[in-house]
Amino acid sequence: MTAREIILKKRNGQSLTANEINFFIHAYLRGEIADYQMSALLMAIYFQGMSFDETITLTRIMRDSGEVVDFSHLPGIKVDKHSTGGVGDKVSLILAPLVAAAGVSVPMISGRSLGHTGGTLDKLESIPGFKTLLPLSRFKKQVEEIGTCLIGQTEEICPADRRIYAMRDATATVQSIPLICGSILSKKLAEGSNALVLDVKVGNGAIFKDAETAEELATHLIRTATAFNLNTVALLTDMSQPLGVAAGNWVEVCESIDVLQGRGPEDTRKVTLALGAIMLQLAGKTQNLRSGMTQLGALLDDGTAWKKFLEIVRAQEGDTAFLEDPEKYPAPKHRVEVKAEGDGFIAAINAREIGRLSMLLGAGRKTVDDMVDYTAGMFIHKKIGDRVEKGEPLMTLQNSGQPPDQDFAQSVRNCFTITHQSATPPQLLRKLLSAQGVHSITEIM
Ligand code: URA
Repeated sequence: MTAREIILKKRNGQSLTANEINFFIHAYLRGEIADYQMSALLMAIYFQGMSFDETITLTRIMRDSGEVVDFSHLPGIKVDKHSTGGVGDKVSLILAPLVAAAGVSVPMISGRSLGHTGGTLDKLESIPGFKTLLPLSRFKKQVEEIGTCLIGQTEEICPADRRIYAMRDATATVQSIPLICGSILSKKLAEGSNALVLDVKVGNGAIFKDAETAEELATHLIRTATAFNLNTVALLTDMSQPLGVAAGNWVEVCESIDVLQGRGPEDTRKVTLALGAIMLQLAGKTQNLRSGMTQLGALLDDGTAWKKFLEIVRAQEGDTAFLEDPEKYPAPKHRVEVKAEGDGFIAAINAREIGRLSMLLGAGRKTVDDMVDYTAGMFIHKKIGDRVEKGEPLMTLQNSGQPPDQDFAQSVRNCFTITHQSATPPQLLRKLLSAQGVHSITEIM
């Protein structure tokens, strides 16, 4: 068996055997298969797809490329959440402490920003001192002791996904349903969760823009997870505009602090509470979603979730002084307001482009090795449906690298479509799916 034969087989639309997938991934990890051959196989999978059996095999081999954590000695159902990625999506920062504060263990392995989407790890690492690359022994101890730990992938856990995900970004093969299933589920299966809620984003800032493909992705993820007995529910949520009011790293930590202290933008709070209520239901800790949302809302409003967040940050060596008083944080060197050039209503926002521009400001990375400017980010002052007057700020941009010039500001302005007719805000929570089918979302609306 050679790498070339396997690439040829997939290129011609044939199914790969478990032996072939196993050989390819392990030889790649050992450095015996070159990056250009992995790129070719990824492109072949992108175009030819994979059968359900191949997707399961890929997921299993990726999971077993590192250690698989066992939390069976911990009482209760361990639940995690994963988002397919968006702009301004800081939900994990709020959700992990919130659900842990409700007594559910949340082992969480998250990703970095790549392309137009942000990453939980970069947001957390904008907190001075915060460590996301912890040995698995510490990860396990922290979940046992304080209910949650947020880490990134190391050589110990799912190394195959770490290497392959970076390659997919560089080769434009991210938008492949079997590859996404393998990537997301291998991590979730390796971290020791028994249940999972997926936030599948829909809209121009999401991995798949149209609702139909997003739903197809959700269905495949649920089907694959079910084959591993991972009880999985998917909530389709809006990504036709950034979530909340901040996109970047430290700026998103600040918005998360607001929500954790019972304030913050309504949409960020609502998506967090809805996903959290599903997690409580999966863990058997609430009768129904509505009471789960009420229970979690109270933990935000009475400061319990905020205290849990501080506990996590201390445990992961972050300096909580900056969280208690965000004014202490280094100020960005540049701040630019982008103003509307006409009156009207915001009819549409190009969230994908906002994510790309935020990355160019320094908040994300073009390649995996790029440095992130933690002060870089954007504040979104107008959302879809809002009225805007000429001269009013649409966005505030900030960074400490190359200052945003007039052309950059114009590109940001171009992300907003302003019309004379009034516009309706998009529906934030779209659909709830599980292995049993489609569920009503009226309870969490
Ligand atoms: N998030 C992941 O972890 N992997 C993907 O492939 C897409 C989103």
